[in-house]
Amino acid sequence: HKRDLIRNISIIAHIDHGKTTLVDRILECTGTIEKRKMKEQYLDTMDIERERGITIKATPVKVLYKASDGLEYEINIIDTPGHVDFSYEVSRSLAACEGAILLVDASQGVEAQTFANTYLALENDLEIIPVVNKVDLPNANIEETVAELEDLIGFTADDCIYASGKTGQGIPEILEAIVHNIPAPSGDINAPLKALIFDAEYDKYRGVVIHARIVDGEVTVGDKIKMFSTGEEFEVTEVGIFTPELVPTDTLSAGEVGYIIAGIKDVDSAKVGDTITSAANPVTTPLPGFKEIKPMVYAGLFPGLPEYYEELRKAIEKLKLNDAALSFKPENSPALGFGFRVGFLGLLHMEVVRERLEREFEIACILTAPNVVYKVKLRNGDTVDITNPAKFPDDSQIEEVQEPFVTLNIITPSEYMGSLIGFITSEKRGEFKEVENAGKNRVVLKFDAPLAEIMFDFFDKLKAISRGYASMDYEIIGYRPSDVVKVTILVNRETVDALSFIVHRSKEYTVARRVVEKLKDLIPQHQFQIPIQAKAGGRIIARSDIKALRKDVLAKCYGGDITRKMKLLEKQREGKKRMREIGKVNIPQTAFLALMKIG
Ligand code: GDP
Repeated sequence: HKRDLIRNISIIAHIDHGKTTLVDRILECTGTIEKRKMKEQYLDTMDIERERGITIKATPVKVLYKASDGLEYEINIIDTPGHVDFSYEVSRSLAACEGAILLVDASQGVEAQTFANTYLALENDLEIIPVVNKVDLPNANIEETVAELEDLIGFTADDCIYASGKTGQGIPEILEAIVHNIPAPSGDINAPLKALIFDAEYDKYRGVVIHARIVDGEVTVGDKIKMFSTGEEFEVTEVGIFTPELVPTDTLSAGEVGYIIAGIKDVDSAKVGDTITSAANPVTTPLPGFKEIKPMVYAGLFPGLPEYYEELRKAIEKLKLNDAALSFKPENSPALGFGFRVGFLGLLHMEVVRERLEREFEIACILTAPNVVYKVKLRNGDTVDITNPAKFPDDSQIEEVQEPFVTLNIITPSEYMGSLIGFITSEKRGEFKEVENAGKNRVVLKFDAPLAEIMFDFFDKLKAISRGYASMDYEIIGYRPSDVVKVTILVNRETVDALSFIVHRSKEYTVARRVVEKLKDLIPQHQFQIPIQAKAGGRIIARSDIKALRKDVLAKCYGGDITRKMKLLEKQREGKKRMREIGKVNIPQTAFLALMKIG
């Protein structure tokens, strides 16, 4: 049977542990595509992702492999995003597979995110093939890597394949293990259609291209399909497979991975994790695991200059076409004028959106410091979700405030354990839960902590304390009561709503002081003195002053040559786009992120 020869897999790996190189090797070994063409095709990702070494998601690829048993197998490799912001998508990609390769760089060991994703795979009942990679490196520590895999996940030295994407060692063993250890997909081809959406992208010409795993039944051009979560119906105009280019086929049937095009105009109608069924003969229960994506952090987004509001709106709408996780609604800030309150999955997602606005749409924008969503129970009995600190209710109206908490896993060399526990419990309001061994020299530390505390500079601090060796992963566990206060910032005695923030009462003074100090550095000097004040509960709790400018800085360009003067003026004009005049004070974009820049 054709389906017995299909294998659907993902690769779980930390950034830089060699996933791309390994896939390239597999494509090369199986003659899927020439080496030269491969780079551009398999790695068809955005610039920003590549620059940061973060592939949010690559196109799936189908590989034909003639195994030692003489049969030709079809292996579908489905990519998973490599960042905690996208862990829901990771879980859905894994749910589309029967197996996963767990790839670990032998010179680095198991990282926290890899560990977390392996557990997601185990929860989805995937067969796992542990691969110790980069064994060609002189500093590869194979023994210790295996010890970590054993302590953390329970694999022994005999379970592992020792490989190098560089020399090609282990690649044949990996291919054979995929074929023999990972089960063929099951599913009933005669049952009504049930397909899992594990990704969706928007194409200007064809509309939404759904990446799907057919679980039961089949789908053919002309079929009417229905989305389980919304009940929306569409007519299929094309189905096909990933080679990785899209190649049309007649049908996709149970066990197969492919794409579906059905005149869908909006990724919101093809939600990751949703079940596609037949409109004529729908199933009654969907596939498990579907969740509506909820933004975890919010920030204000404003055009660099007020007249670019419309342009900014169009740009976000375009981004939204391809990004179901992005949410936005108009917002009017007394300080910054018309803009948007935008919801993101996390800070990386926020950065990606901002950079795309600037690079693809060439729009300079002002982003305010992000914040988590607070649940506020009011004295009148209502509960409201607060996504904007400026809208935080007055103390007198509040019964209780709750903030989101996470479980935090940190894998670190044991020698940094003490400093990390100290840092997280005393400075980040974390609660230490437990420690587990991971090999001879490393440990896993578990904490509960507020999301707001680990969002900003946490990762950098973690790296600094552990000299770059610790890695982290977290999962939201829900809301817990918290004692927070709203801090308002006044610049030159005017309230700048876009600078207000919410902070735990225990840190009110420290954070307020650091923010006013930071703003003092970030806001340029003017001809007059500018007081910067932080106010909470009706009192000023911190203040710093920007001294008046003494000399006329422009003086130095007079008498200079004309091109230099032009350049300077041009630069100023550009700079203006990133400044906002509030009262008489010019506030640069960076100042709105002051809160993120304090340690
Ligand atoms: P990814 O981020 O997991 O996709 O990692 P890449 O495949 O891009 O590899 C990261 C870096 O490690 C690159 O510089 C590769 O050349 C290098 N690399 C990948 N596999 C191996 C290997 O088996 N041996 C050695 N020595 N280097 C490798």
